[in-house]
Amino acid sequence: MRILVKDMAAAAGKQPDAELEAAGWVHRIRDMGGIRFVILRDRSGLGQLVLAEDSGAPAFTLESVIRVRGLPALNEKAPGGAELRVASLEVLSRAAPDLPYQVNGDISKIGLEAILDNRPLSLRNPKIRSVFKVQDTIVESFAAYLRNRDFTEIKTSKLTAGSTEGGTNLFQVDYFDRKLYLAQSPQLYKEAMVASGLERVFEIGPVYRAEKHDTPRHLNEYVSLDLEIGFIESELELIELERELLAHIFGEVARKNGPDLAAWGASVPGPEDLARAPTLSYEEALKLANEEAARDKKASASSRIFDINPEAERLLCEWSRREHGVDLVFVNAFPRRHRPFYTYPLAESGKSGAGTLTMSFDAIFRGLEISSGSRRQHDYDAVVEALPKFGLKPENMAGYLQILKYGCPPHGGFALGCERLTQKILGLGNVKEASLFPRDRRRVEP
Ligand code: ATP
Ligand code: MG
Repeated sequence: MRILVKDMAAAAGKQPDAELEAAGWVHRIRDMGGIRFVILRDRSGLGQLVLAEDSGAPAFTLESVIRVRGLPALNEKAPGGAELRVASLEVLSRAAPDLPYQVNGDISKIGLEAILDNRPLSLRNPKIRSVFKVQDTIVESFAAYLRNRDFTEIKTSKLTAGSTEGGTNLFQVDYFDRKLYLAQSPQLYKEAMVASGLERVFEIGPVYRAEKHDTPRHLNEYVSLDLEIGFIESELELIELERELLAHIFGEVARKNGPDLAAWGASVPGPEDLARAPTLSYEEALKLANEEAARDKKASASSRIFDINPEAERLLCEWSRREHGVDLVFVNAFPRRHRPFYTYPLAESGKSGAGTLTMSFDAIFRGLEISSGSRRQHDYDAVVEALPKFGLKPENMAGYLQILKYGCPPHGGFALGCERLTQKILGLGNVKEASLFPRDRRRVEP
């Protein structure tokens, strides 16, 4: 029976004379005069193998996949505190010796392009792989938290006839004899499923944005953690939901991913920290960002900040860390011009034109927007009236309008970028590091 390297020490303590089998990749080889130390990597981590030079084992190279049998022994100098003294070794798959990338190396010395060019190999690096262990916990705990609150998971089409978030960053696809677009968000389908009577839904799936610029925060394909909930009155309820959801996700990451966090020198805020995260209106946030810019040496002092741009996001989080001891800020009440057509106005009447502000919000974590949400307009007439102002034609939105026409509860929701959340938890410099096979303007391979 195969044993994982993480269980080797326990096995050595319990039954030192029972032969064990281990298998994995050859992470490192060290020859020490007559003895060969091999670090074996499997899904559980790194473990040490000891081979006599005259063992008669077949030749193998770094990254080859091998299977060994031998007796375990405690050794406090070995990773995990034990080693396997190899009696027999089999090469299951020999790696070519010309590795383009040093899998066992220090990745801080390797540029992002080289890491991404050799992605299938760089993902073997334990530190890089740990990013995706953390991401797994994020996705799993997002879903678990919502399922516990009676949300249903949905999967909706990624091929759409039109835009949901604004028209400029769409990818067009040939669909038989017509043109379709890759979905920018599952927004309208989420709303349809609230109105279908499920009331509370979430979706974890890819979305596509034809962002032309190359920034450390944009991917052209990313995983959206989306939710939508019926029978809410205001975005403030959504902010509280997100605060608790983040507390759950961070708690699970702290509980399950200690070594992964340690590999990146990272930590997550606790629930008591999140409870202190302030909510500022868009107007207050802009004013504060400008005040912060005036006292901040890194900010370009001459230019006024007119929007919650990346610079403002950085300044707001610095302010919150200083004043509230937490690197998270919610900004609400965005002006209508900054939000999609379906955003609910802040004024009482609920009709479009009733106000210039909206029941919308962003969450900014460690200097980066990680989510956007809002209460949505559920009044049919108000949406029909608003669509042309956003360059949209009611006749092209028949499916969506049907949702509103035949009885739709007040509702709202938000979407968290999975890669951005991963990036900020671990302190990664670029969001591409949090995507297994990132797509950007130039990169479509591997
Ligand atoms: P930004 O202003 O930073 O470009 P956005 O406001 O256009 O983002 P939304 O439409 O609000 O993005 O999307 C909801 C969330 O999805 C964002 O808060 C972010 O976490 C994530 N997200 C949006 N665009 C991207 C992208 N191109 N790459 C990675 N994540 C993204
Ligand atoms: Mg946004």
